[in-house]
Amino acid sequence: MQPDNSTETMNPGDEAPPNTPGAGEDICRACHGTGKVEGARCTVCGGTGKVLQGIGGG
Ligand SMILES: [Zn+2]
Repeated sequence: MQPDNSTETMNPGDEAPPNTPGAGEDICRACHGTGKVEGARCTVCGGTGKVLQGIGGG
């Protein structure tokens, strides 16, 4: 069984799948874009330093 691409790249901090129209990348607030929190990989953005914001979020 093959994992779905749209969900494979989802991280806990993402508000929308990468292929969502209108969704944009934003700096992860948990790690401030570094991808790490206290030396460990940020679990919010999955270490990417970025999260996806949904439409009209914030
Ligand atoms: Zn992060």
